[in-house]
Amino acid sequence: MSGPAPSSTASDALPRRGLGGLDDLLSAPKARLARRFVATGRAPDPAEFHRAGLTLSPTEQTAITRWLESGLATTVREQHRAQDGTIKLRLGLVDDREIETVAMPVGAVCVSSQVGCAVGCRFCASGMFGVERHLTADEILEQVVHARRLMPIDRVVFMGMGEPSHNLENVLTAVTRIRNEALISPRRQTLSTVGAVKVFERMKRSEFKPCLAVSLHLANDARRRELLPRAHGDTVQDIVAAADEYGRSMRTPVQFEWTLLRGVNDGDRDVDQLCELLQGVRGYVNFIVYNHVDGLPFEPPSRERIVTIVRQVKERGILATIRDSSGADANAACGQLRVRAIS
Ligand code: SF4
Repeated sequence: MSGPAPSSTASDALPRRGLGGLDDLLSAPKARLARRFVATGRAPDPAEFHRAGLTLSPTEQTAITRWLESGLATTVREQHRAQDGTIKLRLGLVDDREIETVAMPVGAVCVSSQVGCAVGCRFCASGMFGVERHLTADEILEQVVHARRLMPIDRVVFMGMGEPSHNLENVLTAVTRIRNEALISPRRQTLSTVGAVKVFERMKRSEFKPCLAVSLHLANDARRRELLPRAHGDTVQDIVAAADEYGRSMRTPVQFEWTLLRGVNDGDRDVDQLCELLQGVRGYVNFIVYNHVDGLPFEPPSRERIVTIVRQVKERGILATIRDSSGADANAACGQLRVRAIS
């Protein structure tokens, strides 16, 4: 690939697909500013280029307009709107694989980091077929672009398809680019992972650090390994201690996710083990009400039981919240739209 075309002569050759394609059309400073316009959901404004000391030639303006029509590396193949306003997208990639993205009316977008997932959590549709490949930083950032075309977005959660820690370098690059191009602070980005000590150590060395959510689901190692068969091998004690250290270095509490599954992790003993594990940790539990996936034998606990669990945890001095899976009527459980499309 040759370097960027001189600013006065935008190349007639087809640029690469994806936001990086703007580098094939424009000089580096112009491409940077153009990417920022795209990622913030605005049409490139020649006046703003001018204010930045950059002049767009008519040829370059035409090239950008053409690029905006079909330049992204991802395309929307299916869109479902739930009653609460949540919009779930099935996106096609250049190699014809598919991912999912969820735009939520609270101003957040849930992005995927891989096609499929290798962890294989028994309750999750995304893990049913293993992992096919990592997403590039461009493909992750473009999910924010698509969401912003639907609604205002100022928060990003890496909680969609895939395990972000398995694609950590691209995810951390995406965090930086979402900051620089989409203008969303890392403090408004949350990376959700099954966790590993070495992952948190790598995140601590990153220039721009996202907030952290750890998918616990069980506080007993043997039973957690059954439910999350291919998570990293660290013990839950080591994972929680390293996550706590990361959170303290960020001065941000860590979110511990617990997808509530009837008869699996909603018993008094499960709650006791969770509370013991989190004693003294600077964080809170986010209980996620399970959204049934066709073909999988899991159900959420009753509403009464959920309320009791939250009360039990709070009585032990641990903060707790409940999250209903957004957009249940839009097949919003992780990976469901894609599974339905390929089955
Ligand atoms: S819940 Fe997350 S980590 Fe587990 S299989 Fe699904 S996408 Fe992977």
